[in-house]
Amino acid sequence: MPSEIDVVVIGAGVAGLAAAARLRQSGLRAWVREASGRIGGRARTDIEPALGGAWFDHGAAWLHVAESNPLVPIAEAAGDVLINSDELRNERTFIGVRLATEAELDDYANAWPRFIAAGDSLLAAGGLDGSLADVAKTLPDDPWALSVEMWEGPVICVSQPDRYSLHDWKRNMLSGSNRMVDGGIGAFIAGRLGVGLDIRLNSKVHGVCWSDAGVTVQTGQGAIEARACIVTVSTGVLASGAIAFDPPLPASVGDCLAGLPMGLAIKVALRASGPDRLDLPDYCSVDRRVETRGEPTTVLQFWPLGRDYVSAWIGADTAWALQEEGDAACVDFVRDHLSSLFGGRATDLFPGTEAVVTQWGRDANFLGSYAYALPGYADARSTLGQPRADGRLVICGEACNEDGLAGTVGGAWHDGRRAASAVAEALRQSPGRRPASRVR
Ligand SMILES: Cc1cc2nc3c(=O)[nH]c(=O)nc-3n(C[C@H](O)[C@H](O)[C@H](O)COP(=O)(O)OP(=O)(O)OC[C@H]3O[C@@H](n4cnc5c(N)ncnc54)[C@H](O)[C@@H]3O)c2cc1C
Repeated sequence: MPSEIDVVVIGAGVAGLAAAARLRQSGLRAWVREASGRIGGRARTDIEPALGGAWFDHGAAWLHVAESNPLVPIAEAAGDVLINSDELRNERTFIGVRLATEAELDDYANAWPRFIAAGDSLLAAGGLDGSLADVAKTLPDDPWALSVEMWEGPVICVSQPDRYSLHDWKRNMLSGSNRMVDGGIGAFIAGRLGVGLDIRLNSKVHGVCWSDAGVTVQTGQGAIEARACIVTVSTGVLASGAIAFDPPLPASVGDCLAGLPMGLAIKVALRASGPDRLDLPDYCSVDRRVETRGEPTTVLQFWPLGRDYVSAWIGADTAWALQEEGDAACVDFVRDHLSSLFGGRATDLFPGTEAVVTQWGRDANFLGSYAYALPGYADARSTLGQPRADGRLVICGEACNEDGLAGTVGGAWHDGRRAASAVAEALRQSPGRRPASRVR
């Protein structure tokens, strides 16, 4: 449909939806072009037959830092039910094949402030940015330091500790409480955040010609001329070259992309084949003390919201290696881990026939889960997001967030709005031409 168009937004994930909504508020016409057949990007809820028809969040599952998360008030205003998952959460920790004692658990709980204080000391010492692994190295006698490192690195930030920037870790520590959306975050985002926006699905962008006079965006359905373009695809997609930029993006962008690689988390959900609940309460997080840096491991969440499955989270190098081997290897890895904790009871309870294995690393629209900063690259987030060509081209999304929410849906929302504000301001100051009939 020939139409006047101000801004093309590439991607209908949270950042793209936030950007398009903000542009509309500014009185600008935005077209969102989305490669896949759904909106929400890395927030995706599916009803899973393999889990007895339960809804399951393949990507984002929690609204972190609920006190300041911008999506919390939106969900509340829409009447969605938010579940305070911290209040539901139970925890068990294994040391080898036995459960940790109360005294050991107290020591584990205190290991977090010890770890954070040690990280703060390293940062206060100044000098070059180090890695997360440097923190545990200053705590050689702490029996729990490597377990905290495992949570902060491979689990939460989906990165190996020795390749994760200490500054970036500190800046994006997610302190505060967590909420789940009843029905799934992906369903909430798809159902609430796209309303009234001009979104075209199955419309992959493969090229962007850009200058300070405007942009031409190449899609499978033809070229779109517009005054500006906001690019929200992951750093993995950008680095893959799937979108050809003409002229090529400056070398500084390539440097940022190299410094903000995608980490990977694979979720493996296995449905119990019988009534045994392994003596664990509902919504029970289970981990095992890490004895050696880098040992392949997974953390488990049993019986979420009282359901009959366990969800395992595998992060960083272990996840990339298992992804190469395929879904069956992921399931076997989790079953072996379960058996090592619970013996034959778990082997029988989880035959592995009913399983969900997420696919973020393989999906060409994402190529990983979310970006982390290599040591020395914490500032690459802001550099990557700088407006280019007089504000006619802005890259944004979770990887560019600077508000302490990088890697999250809240961060993606903030950054989509930031990009849209930058474009709106640039177009206000220098309106340029407004293409009349913009689909060729
Ligand atoms: C396993 C996992 C667990 C997570 N857990 C949490 C959590 O609990 N809480 C939390 O806050 N965050 C979590 N996250 C992170 C969160 O999901 C992301 O940070 C956020 O959704 C990213 O949004 P975005 O808009 O920046 O990018 P995306 O969601 O990636 O949006 C970009 C969009 O661009 C599309 N696209 C790609 N290429 C093209 C192209 N060539 N043309 C057109 N469109 C294209 C993609 O299909 C996608 O829809 C998790 C992510 C994963 C994968």
